[in-house]
Amino acid sequence: MASKKQTVELIALQCEVCKRRNYTTAKNRRNTQEKLEFKKYCPHDRKHTLHKETKIK
Ligand SMILES: [Zn+2]
Repeated sequence: MASKKQTVELIALQCEVCKRRNYTTAKNRRNTQEKLEFKKYCPHDRKHTLHKETKIK
């Protein structure tokens, strides 16, 4: 059964150190209302850094 309303939103994950957007992911607005934060590898800093949710557009 296909849902009519899309609650999934595409977001970018921005490195807190160099402010580059290294990753994109999908977020379910209904389940997740707080800002997403992930510890991910940044190829620019060459280490794991905190990446925070930002809008893609
Ligand atoms: Zn970085």
